[in-house]
Amino acid sequence: MKLWNHYHTPKTPDEAITLLHQYAGQARIIAGGTDLLVDMRAEGHEPIEALIDITRIPQLNTIEISPHPQPLSQVARGANDTTLITIGAGVTHTQIVKSAVIAERATCLVESCGVVGGPQVRNVATLGGNVAHALPAGDGTTSLVALDAEAEIILKGQQKWVPLTDLFLGPGESLLDPTHDLLVRFRFKACGKDEGSAFKRIMRPQGVALPILGCAVWVRLDTAGTTFEAARISIAPAGPRPGRAQEIEQFLNGKPATAETIEQAAALAQERLHPRTSKYRATADYRKEMIGVLLRRTLPLAVKRAQTGEAVPEGVGM
Ligand SMILES: Cc1cc2nc3c(=O)[nH]c(=O)nc-3n(C[C@H](O)[C@H](O)[C@H](O)COP(=O)(O)OP(=O)(O)OC[C@H]3O[C@@H](n4cnc5c(N)ncnc54)[C@H](O)[C@@H]3O)c2cc1C
Repeated sequence: MKLWNHYHTPKTPDEAITLLHQYAGQARIIAGGTDLLVDMRAEGHEPIEALIDITRIPQLNTIEISPHPQPLSQVARGANDTTLITIGAGVTHTQIVKSAVIAERATCLVESCGVVGGPQVRNVATLGGNVAHALPAGDGTTSLVALDAEAEIILKGQQKWVPLTDLFLGPGESLLDPTHDLLVRFRFKACGKDEGSAFKRIMRPQGVALPILGCAVWVRLDTAGTTFEAARISIAPAGPRPGRAQEIEQFLNGKPATAETIEQAAALAQERLHPRTSKYRATADYRKEMIGVLLRRTLPLAVKRAQTGEAVPEGVGM
């Protein structure tokens, strides 16, 4: 079955955009192809005129830590720590899992990328593809939302940074048109002093099975490590688009970082969030129950990481 007529490997974002422009809507961006090729085979229509493979663009394949290239244990932490992590859209899940700095300073992202598919999928599938596919339950996406990430995009010829959540219009519907636009990279502030993050997922026990629910959390405690100063919670899928559970975040602010508070937050989330029944994944009732389970697992872990400054990702496949 022929899926495309021409295949291009541009070396710069501009070259990719020029190619898309030349094909006038008849070409499409491809990264790892783990979503796109599956969809193209399933749809089974005429071959697309051209695929524009962005995996050979060096700028899209790098992870940058600025201004301090060292891991947290080697840098002076404090209120002025403004370490920023920038990840190219073409970076694979495996590259993220292997990054010691991301493991320590954005632990939830390593935990989410580390459960995507199996090793073969993670070795080629990219973070950009996970976001551009715009499914409400993309695992990498869920953690980027909790990390309050921004995305650099080339949209209608304009290159700009936008909040990540602006990219999602509906299930599988992105602000970016992959026949015209390009996702370039992501950036977010690294976890610093008194901050921690965690991601967990519920799935059927088979090896590579459909996830039922994922949850990423980020917390900042006061300097004593006893009170929530801020929290960001991303539970997916809990709606048509990836997003934050802001009511639960607000509930946590200023509360003691105790098991009792976490129990109350879990109960509130179960009451206020409304996941839907999915024929292939789970019923709404089961997912509601699992929202509580996931918050009881992720929040204490993120709190512990914030209190100790030590973060070793859990449940990550290599
Ligand atoms: C067996 C299997 C298991 C999987 N398990 C999981 C899982 O557990 N969790 C999970 O979240 N996902 C899973 N996936 C889905 C998929 O692997 C991920 O979503 C992956 O991150 C997609 O990345 P990709 O590079 O392969 O994207 P591609 O398939 O190359 O592209 C996906 C979409 O994004 C567009 N696109 C890609 N890059 C860009 C860009 N830079 N700019 C603009 N548009 C772009 C493409 O045109 C296409 O529309 C699985 C897939 C398979 C086949």
